[in-house]
Amino acid sequence: MRSEFKNEVFVNFKEEGNNAEYDAALKKVEAELGKVYPLMIGGEKMMTDRKIDSINPANTSQVIGTVSQADIPLAEKAIQTAAATFETWKRTDPGERARYLFRAAALLRRRRHEFSALMTFEAGKTRVEADVETAEAIDFLEFYGREMQRLSLPQPLTVSEEEENELYYIPLGVGVVIPPWNFPLAIMAGMTTAAVVAGNTVVLKPASATPVIAAKFVELLEEVGLPPGVVNFLPGPGGQVGDYLVDHPLTRFISFTGSRDVGLRINERAAKTQPGQKWIKRVVAEMGGKDAIIVDQEADLDLAADVITTSAFGFSGQKCSACSRVIVHEEVYDTVLNKVVERASKLIMSNPAEASANLGPVIDEKAYAKILEYIEIGKQEGRLVLGGGTGEPNGYFIEPTIFADVEPTARISQEEIFGPVVAFTKAASFDEALEFANNTVYGLTGAVISRNGAHLEKARREFFVGNLYFNRKCTGALVGTHPFGGFNMSGTDSKAGGRDYLLLFTQAKLVSDRF
Ligand code: NAP
Repeated sequence: MRSEFKNEVFVNFKEEGNNAEYDAALKKVEAELGKVYPLMIGGEKMMTDRKIDSINPANTSQVIGTVSQADIPLAEKAIQTAAATFETWKRTDPGERARYLFRAAALLRRRRHEFSALMTFEAGKTRVEADVETAEAIDFLEFYGREMQRLSLPQPLTVSEEEENELYYIPLGVGVVIPPWNFPLAIMAGMTTAAVVAGNTVVLKPASATPVIAAKFVELLEEVGLPPGVVNFLPGPGGQVGDYLVDHPLTRFISFTGSRDVGLRINERAAKTQPGQKWIKRVVAEMGGKDAIIVDQEADLDLAADVITTSAFGFSGQKCSACSRVIVHEEVYDTVLNKVVERASKLIMSNPAEASANLGPVIDEKAYAKILEYIEIGKQEGRLVLGGGTGEPNGYFIEPTIFADVEPTARISQEEIFGPVVAFTKAASFDEALEFANNTVYGLTGAVISRNGAHLEKARREFFVGNLYFNRKCTGALVGTHPFGGFNMSGTDSKAGGRDYLLLFTQAKLVSDRF
């Protein structure tokens, strides 16, 4: 057995040596940009005519890499290959399966800055955000490897004198893994390897905005000796190959993280039994959020302003856990608003490759246009007190933007914007603040900043979110420490990075043997 799981320590970029190492990794990665990547089915690498160009969102003339795109015949081949490989992979010793993850974690640790630097170019992550993500990817590998070791041990059952009873967690079959672009390494790697370590084979369809980091991770899995056909790498627009993969009768489960609309579409399609299908497909869908931070009358207001600024504007608000609503008791509303405006106005928006950058661009043109549209809506629904503008025209930069005096029912209080935009709402009491916080279709993360123990207890019971934080930010869930997943339209509450997660990719078989 491995030693006890511990979270990877983040790199401290206040130390100049670490910045110099990161700068060197950026140079190395930049020199290798522009490569063409194959898709991979059953270990066979294939270049296709149709390609996806991955673009640097901070500098749209820079191509990060070009990835071969799958069509329907290749999607079919990937599913068939995964199904054939499942017959051997499901019988592979769980200890061996776990060791591939531990080896991958070790390699990733050695190449940490290289993977992070690639995310700086491909996803627009600052070095701090990129490093935290690579650390999370390592954590997922280490955690899920150990989880499989745990689940493969004899499971506790009531002892019977006459029989020998055993319960085994066996894999499901072929999984379709569909990750988002916003954690293009950690979520992609976590979803893929959790399914695989549990004994399933997968078709991995990466997000089209960030396929190069996924291709690099697939190369790493190959390097550690993961058998061909266990992970089949199938880039392609979700709108084109997604339905085919989801509908396929050999697909046993779909593991999805992304927007609500796509998640609901997948859920609906997966529910329809196809000719020849022998099972009810399982859908694990983690979706959007409209996460609120409540600031109570009795609270450390500087702490509140710090955590709001970090939660709302880290990675330009492009986290499912990002704070997009701030609900403040009327007694302290103006003070908190002013403190957040003061802090947010000091944030440096620039190319994320620069060490000084606090936030970079948003991911692509579509996101840029959508966020700017919401800023226009916000101008009708509230008082613009900070930002609203754009940055360097060669990238998709949008300033940290704050709207004050927004009604809890306004569109910018209800709809996921997924950008650096936050809405402030005034509440007359703590109860009203809680009511406003719960008044959305989502239920992912939330935070309460308060010194009032009774209020915190009330929030503990009634703030309806999957991840609730007191007197800290609502982003930054750690694997093993803060299992992550949301309620309502935020998803199936899969609790990634928790002890329930691997069970979603297994089925329990009980064998009772009477001698
Ligand atoms: P998205 O547009 O829903 O895309 C997610 C994935 O689904 C991508 O790989 C996409 O492929 C694919 N896809 C698109 N249409 C599809 C279809 N018809 N069938 C199958 N797959 C399809 O979401 P996103 O913009 O990448 O990610 C941002 C969203 O993810 C936000 O809503 C955020 O809150 C959510 N998120 C949630 C969590 C969580 O744990 N709850 C974590 C991170 C992000 P293409 O890229 O090719 O379109």
